[in-house]
Amino acid sequence: MASPTPADLVILSTRVVTPEGTAPAAVAISDGVVTAIHDHGAGPDSPRRLDVGDAVLLPGGVDTHVHVNEPGRTEWEGFETATRAAAGGGITTIVDMPLNSVPVTTTTAALELKARAAAGHATIDYAFWGGVVPGNIDQLAPLARAGVRGFKCFLVPSGIDEFPPVGESQLRPAMTKLAGLGLPLLVHAELPGPIARAGSSRGSDPRRYGSYLASRPRAAELEAVNLMLGLCRETGCRIHIVHVSAAETLGRLRDARRAGLPVTAETCPHYLTFAAEEILDGATAWKCAPPIRERSNREQLWDGLAQGTLDLVASDHSPAPPALKCLETGDFVRAWGGIASLELGLAATWTGARDRGRDLGDLARWCAERPARLAGLPRKGRIAPGCDADLIVFDPDARFTVRPGQLRQRHPVTPYAGMTLAGVVRQTFVRGVCVYKEGDFPSGVIGRWER
Ligand SMILES: [Zn+2]
Repeated sequence: MASPTPADLVILSTRVVTPEGTAPAAVAISDGVVTAIHDHGAGPDSPRRLDVGDAVLLPGGVDTHVHVNEPGRTEWEGFETATRAAAGGGITTIVDMPLNSVPVTTTTAALELKARAAAGHATIDYAFWGGVVPGNIDQLAPLARAGVRGFKCFLVPSGIDEFPPVGESQLRPAMTKLAGLGLPLLVHAELPGPIARAGSSRGSDPRRYGSYLASRPRAAELEAVNLMLGLCRETGCRIHIVHVSAAETLGRLRDARRAGLPVTAETCPHYLTFAAEEILDGATAWKCAPPIRERSNREQLWDGLAQGTLDLVASDHSPAPPALKCLETGDFVRAWGGIASLELGLAATWTGARDRGRDLGDLARWCAERPARLAGLPRKGRIAPGCDADLIVFDPDARFTVRPGQLRQRHPVTPYAGMTLAGVVRQTFVRGVCVYKEGDFPSGVIGRWER
């Protein structure tokens, strides 16, 4: 019998989660890459063998919806803090959104600045989305050549003046261009019409969550999805609907997929965890757009995930300084819309998933494999030969209580404060290097740009 190829690290677990299922195995790693998956007792000789027992070995999470905000709004968040938070929460690759940094990533010059800001500051690997805004169509091909994984656009004001929304007349040529480049367009799918028709919450108490919820109606999402599906059919451009909140869109998405349109969609941990009925007036830590809707809607989102209509879960980590969240006044109109949950998204998703009878294979598909596919990162998101050894040692039965002061993100504002979540990340490996272990970061900033 030929002896197997030597490895520089072999990790053994009775529960290794691969695309084929969950089983005992020995994962052999050489030069940061998984070289083979052997039977649990077998595997090549190696100077380092790590037996994690019954702890689960999962692919590291790939979070495709992260607002790092650096350069320019580093006081909101930054590569150093965001990527440590990610490592501690079991995420091994993030894809950064083209806003809310200054400049926004809508030109190659801006991408260059962003790459420079990230270099030497990241604990985990990272990649970038570019932005589609009015007037930057000439930048799309150069940005693609420079390595962005796709593009993001808004159909309503983004909250940041430098990143204006686009309409149908700008989308059509941009999507035709992206179809040629073979890259996806990620869309914040809310249209301004239904929001305007819902009327502003002027006159009503700005502290009322119900008023905020009513100001961003489900119809805004539904009409936006309809518009995008029409343009997708017309141009052939791959589209991805970010942060689906309204369950009414699921039927349209399912039909479109059945008709063969290249469309995918995500939802976020906060839409899967919280419910409008439980959000107190003045509780602006819960403000995000689109808003967190009712409990029955939440359960339909879980069904959408289970049925594959929603492909993946991404955090939409969107931090801001506490003052901008208006926590003192509880003013939902003035508060920044965004929830920072890069470090908690995997555990929050697992907590809800296991309560609904879903398994670790589902978690790996939603939080690693499919996000990696969306971002065109074939070496990420799976435990398989030839893939990067981005792995987490995960205790799915252990629980922890969220203490905001212990989070690694820059600002300790979180709607998860005081909640008990299932699923503790014991260790995180990026390309075979242990970057996080039981509260410590033993290897520094080894993250690199994936392009
Ligand atoms: Zn976002």
